[in-house]
Amino acid sequence: MRAAVLHEHRRPFTIEELDLAPPGPAEVEVRLHASGVCRSDWNTVTGDTPSPLPAVLGHEGAGVVASVGPGVTSVAPGDHVVLSWLPACGRCRFCTSGRLTLCDVAAPALLAGTLLDGTTRLTLAGRPVHHYSFLSTFAERTVVPEASCVRIRDEAPFPVAALVGCAITTGCGAVLNRARVEAGSSLVVFGAGGVGLSAIMAARLAGAGTVIAVDPAASRRAVALELGATHAVGPEEAGTALTDLTGAGADFGIESSGAPGAVAAAYRAVRRGGTLVCVGIPPEDAAVELPGAALVRDEKVVTGSLYGSCRPHTDMPMLLDLFLEGRLPLDRLVGATYPLEEIDRAFADLREGGGVRTLIDLT
Ligand SMILES: [Zn+2]
Ligand SMILES: [Zn+2]
Repeated sequence: MRAAVLHEHRRPFTIEELDLAPPGPAEVEVRLHASGVCRSDWNTVTGDTPSPLPAVLGHEGAGVVASVGPGVTSVAPGDHVVLSWLPACGRCRFCTSGRLTLCDVAAPALLAGTLLDGTTRLTLAGRPVHHYSFLSTFAERTVVPEASCVRIRDEAPFPVAALVGCAITTGCGAVLNRARVEAGSSLVVFGAGGVGLSAIMAARLAGAGTVIAVDPAASRRAVALELGATHAVGPEEAGTALTDLTGAGADFGIESSGAPGAVAAAYRAVRRGGTLVCVGIPPEDAAVELPGAALVRDEKVVTGSLYGSCRPHTDMPMLLDLFLEGRLPLDRLVGATYPLEEIDRAFADLREGGGVRTLIDLT
């Protein structure tokens, strides 16, 4: 099967014919239909996020189950699925307390470049090629853990379903699961890419009052306003706008950019006693500076949220239901779509950052 292989950091992808071994116990083979291109993939291309090479990247995908390995009971050939990059074990202390994104089994193995048993199903001319985030969606087919397969309704379009596999769940979950935004409250979202725009849509769904988007790109600010932001400003105007619109700061902040200094700026934008949820992942060795005395006196909550702190098998079908009912315009995130051969162009699109979500069409 054809896949885009990354052999070295900061080099173009090469399209290669790979061998894909059949699914083992508790594994599933999926014929992919669409994959999103995510900032986390780019951080792996640059080497900022460590994951072994050569590898087939991509972790935001949807498709149809092609075959199942021994013991698989939750999906069958023909089922439409979104792929979750956190195949939670369901048995550890985090899973049993409902915090699946912290799973003791899946989370530590996320960047190991293998499936859960520590081996790979991908080979190129007999030599092993690594997986990425258990999924490797820049390919025609993939083998993934059964726990990564989230069954969805057949009428959900694959490009939207693919984006539910990462950006949409991350942004919506940050607002609904982690911040727990209340009706009438104020919210500021730093970064209006796929994740930030998803957060804005979820905030509107939750009944937030003032929703302020902060992004340097005018094109993204325009989309943010269409999707539910009440105001959209550039980073240099953010301080003044927040004072004018919220007085002492927003009730909730979402930091989705991962840019240097962004967490400190987002911290300042939240009112005393407010909650800041950090979603954008900065380079591995980046540190965050917060004012020490104010951290105590102002009692702000600063928390991370991985993958929208989601429970994939309930949250992902729920988000697609809301989309199909016309209550969450998730299709507005589907941007330029390229064939697998043009994957380098898709990443150039991502870096230029003017549009919404870039996708790879794998049909
Ligand atoms: Zn992602
Ligand atoms: Zn677990």
